[in-house]
Amino acid sequence: MNCTIEGCPGQYEERQIAHTVRRNGQVVVIDHVPAEVCSVCGDVLLKPDTVRRIEALLQTASEPAGTAPLYEYA
Ligand SMILES: [Zn+2]
Repeated sequence: MNCTIEGCPGQYEERQIAHTVRRNGQVVVIDHVPAEVCSVCGDVLLKPDTVRRIEALLQTASEPAGTAPLYEYA
């Protein structure tokens, strides 16, 4: 599929990404999320099913599979 960013000649490719969301002011990372990523500009598309699955995951508030170091840029 062609990239939706105007003027970008890239194509979306199926990849697994680390998706970051903010919940209650906290950064939450979900790893290995299937996404379409543009090979040129890096634009990310998530399927509606994937978004629903992420929301469901966050709502279960189960124990995370792991923790990641969090750094503040400034
Ligand atoms: Zn693009």
